[in-house]
Amino acid sequence: MRPVRCGRPRERPHVTDQQPTPREFGFVDRHIGPDPDAVATLLHTIGVESLDDLAAKALPAGILDQLSGDGVAPGLDALPPPATEADALAELRALADSNTVAVSMIGQGYYDTLTPPVLLRNIMENPAWYTAYTPYQPEISQGRLEALLNFQTMVTDLTGLEVANASMLDEATAAAEAMTLMQRAVRGPARRLAVDTDVFAQTAAVLQTRAEPLGIEIVTADLRRGLPEGDFFGVIAQLPGASGRVTDWSELIASAHDRGALVAVGADLLALTLITPPGDIGADVAFGTTQRFGVPMGFGGPHAGYLAVHSAHARQLPGRLVGVSKDVDGAAAYRLALQTREQHIRRDKATSNICTAQVLLAVMAAMYASYHGAEGLTAIARRVHGHARALAAGLSAAGVEVVHDTFFDTVLARVAGRARDVQAAAKERGINVWCVDDDHVSVACDEATTSGHIADVLAAFSAEATAGEYAGPAPAPRRSAFLTHPAFTRYRTETEMMRYLRSLADKDIALDRSMIPLGSCTMKLNAAAEMEAVTWPEFGRQHPFAPSSDTPGLRRLISDLETWLSGITGYDNVSLQPNAGSQGEYAGLLAIQAYHAARGESGRDVCLIPSSAHGTNAASAALAGMKVVVVGCRPNGDVDLDDLRAKVTEHADRLSALMITYPSTHGVYEHDVADICAAVHDAGGQVYVDGANLNALVGLARPGRFGGDVSHLNLHKTFCIPHGGGGPGVGPVAVRSHLAPFLPGHPLAEELGDALTVSAAPYGSASILPITWAYIRMMGAQGLRSAALVAIASANYIARRLDEYYPVLYTGENGMVAHECILDLRGITKATGVTVDDVAKRLADYGFHAPTMSFPVAGTLMVEPTESESLAEVDAFCDAMIAIRAEIDKVGSGEWSVDDNPLRGAPHTAECLLVGEWTHPYTREQAAYPLGAAFRPKVWPPVRRIDGAYGDRNLVCSCPPVEAFA
Ligand SMILES: *Cc1c(COP(=O)(O)O)cnc(C)c1O
Repeated sequence: MRPVRCGRPRERPHVTDQQPTPREFGFVDRHIGPDPDAVATLLHTIGVESLDDLAAKALPAGILDQLSGDGVAPGLDALPPPATEADALAELRALADSNTVAVSMIGQGYYDTLTPPVLLRNIMENPAWYTAYTPYQPEISQGRLEALLNFQTMVTDLTGLEVANASMLDEATAAAEAMTLMQRAVRGPARRLAVDTDVFAQTAAVLQTRAEPLGIEIVTADLRRGLPEGDFFGVIAQLPGASGRVTDWSELIASAHDRGALVAVGADLLALTLITPPGDIGADVAFGTTQRFGVPMGFGGPHAGYLAVHSAHARQLPGRLVGVSKDVDGAAAYRLALQTREQHIRRDKATSNICTAQVLLAVMAAMYASYHGAEGLTAIARRVHGHARALAAGLSAAGVEVVHDTFFDTVLARVAGRARDVQAAAKERGINVWCVDDDHVSVACDEATTSGHIADVLAAFSAEATAGEYAGPAPAPRRSAFLTHPAFTRYRTETEMMRYLRSLADKDIALDRSMIPLGSCTMKLNAAAEMEAVTWPEFGRQHPFAPSSDTPGLRRLISDLETWLSGITGYDNVSLQPNAGSQGEYAGLLAIQAYHAARGESGRDVCLIPSSAHGTNAASAALAGMKVVVVGCRPNGDVDLDDLRAKVTEHADRLSALMITYPSTHGVYEHDVADICAAVHDAGGQVYVDGANLNALVGLARPGRFGGDVSHLNLHKTFCIPHGGGGPGVGPVAVRSHLAPFLPGHPLAEELGDALTVSAAPYGSASILPITWAYIRMMGAQGLRSAALVAIASANYIARRLDEYYPVLYTGENGMVAHECILDLRGITKATGVTVDDVAKRLADYGFHAPTMSFPVAGTLMVEPTESESLAEVDAFCDAMIAIRAEIDKVGSGEWSVDDNPLRGAPHTAECLLVGEWTHPYTREQAAYPLGAAFRPKVWPPVRRIDGAYGDRNLVCSCPPVEAFA
């Protein structure tokens, strides 16, 4: 039989004398999109000789670092020579092997969990999920928006409250957000918050940090005895408490309400399947973590915290909130709701500084709840509780006092003076328990606990398992139903779950389908080799408060990173504790305030912020108790030096800091940066350089050397941690030595000292640090510098190619931009009525994700290609933008009306093209395949343009009934 032939007949082999030059590809070649020929094309288009010539023309000479004789940038000599993927993974393996994976029964907010492999493989290890960006373009983000809506529904159902947001950074910061939320909601003069003594140590520490600059006084008391005397705006208690105790808080809640205070309860979601949830006893707010829903402890993070409120307080919620709305055809569709509360809009008046949150982990937790459902979660909770009761029974039988007779998973034992011995005996059996003090040991059970573990722990107490039942009472049971929506009943088999996850991911554009040219977001490659170690149990299955002898490999990795990041930035010290850029900003500003205070200048509280700054800057300054004074910009986009000098003079006595972004959020290297820094220093102020744009500086200039005192970096931008659909992130704060004493501390990590704590875990989102470690390790000094240069070259190339179609708003000296460029559509909009929204949505029809819309300038698009995109991809994007410009011109010329054209109609679903009569002045081909079917793989948006305002007026933030989609 003749073989069936598919496709085109094979062409005759191309005969040539030239054989390809053999060349092995290293990691740098894999990471950087344009190859040497493509780079030559970029440089030719820009009109520079070489990448070094580009650097010399784009960056101010005063800050540009000169290479040493061996071609290494100063500071980057701290880095080892680049390793191959295989070698870097072998080194990570060796670091992992030096850690000990003990059985963790420490508890205190972190519990071992069994991640269903279907979720590990299809979410955590799947680029369709982990490389997505925050769903600001909802039409191409319906998959992750649905997953987040499931998360919100899961949280409201389990807590018994009405509205939950789409994840918080961790439990302790969620408690702090609950505090400020209650204060805003009460609106009274009271400035005191009552906190129960039995909250987690890290929660108490973060509350204390956050309260002080806001003038909130925390009164810590045993709230079982009722609310202390005096006026309070709010009360915080925990269920179960840090000691494991389950307390019925209903009386406290009633009396707090009588006295005009709101109540927030930190609650364990697994426990809430069995015990009465906070909402059912009248609490106003619930907060906590969703870590034990399938997300590894990860030495402290990342995991999704949660925050839920009564609907009366919905508008006070911080962070992102997913809501249901409808598209232009009336179909139900999801998008981020009430964004008017956020720092992007309200700046220092925002409800919070949270930007990057914990989306990927929220998706994991939500899907864990879907996979197990109410029945499965309840069964797991019963098993956990059963182990705790068996432990308590054995201890009681052996005469060991069990301190609290009502508990869920954690048993507190009194062992007069023997606590360290019991801890050591448990350790000998491979188990970590928690030593509260010399007289008390607490043992937490979790999903991974077995009867064997209980027997071993009992042996450590010189007790043994007993057949007898524990006599203590069961906690007050849960009576309300939960997780009844089909989202939590349909996906019980692996086949169903696998397909559900695939169907959701298929609705979205992540980096696995297209470049994501979002300015200020640095959507570069997240290499598989970088990601690999994240899910190794030696890194993932580590409790943040495990004995330090368990984690030498992680500690080594952390200290390597601190050294490397110090070298790259030119600072002296780095803290990895902040778990997002916003948190790094906050930690950095606190360090500045503490420095001034230590020098007897605590009156300095003015923070100068240019009008072009990211919204988080102003929001963080407000949280740090500072007064924000806005500095204007010149018509060319630079900070207005005259206005700066005037404001410095005006506020000289009270000047605390200037926060500037470098290169600026306008995408240019301001040549005056050194003068700007000097003016602030001369007046006794400190300079905060927002390092979100560090991708344009690595190996070229160091903020710690050109005038900065402190910066945060976004490891999820410059250093390859994937964005996960809106988190996780890591926002290290780097300082010069005079600020080092004020870097974050932690109550449970002696080595960090007792400075203020900004995150729940000592090293924040530690388990994703191997990503950045691997990136730096594989790139080496020269690779990193090349990456920055190619990113700059690509942005300048785009600026040159698109300028005649969309004017580039700002350029620096020699007409250069930095690593991103702003395309000004305001003139086009004025002339034709076509808006940035129209262009952004139309790009989806062409198969692209839109650039950043209307930040930092309304009516513009900001494009950042990064070094990872090939010239072919960048050219395709430019071709699409140019084709869109031709479409705009047809609107401008009147060929298409402004209300009915392919831009206004975008994005087009398959349904809108196929079903019913076609009545538009453009064809269906023009709608769906504007550059032909062969241009690039077609992305079919699942919904059409979404009406955001409708959803804000009719706020629905949990899963709608299935009929809504009929
Ligand atoms: C991204 C960004 C931030 C905020 O960082 P998150 O990690 O999202 O909190 C701050 N400033 C600038 C300029 C940014 O681009």
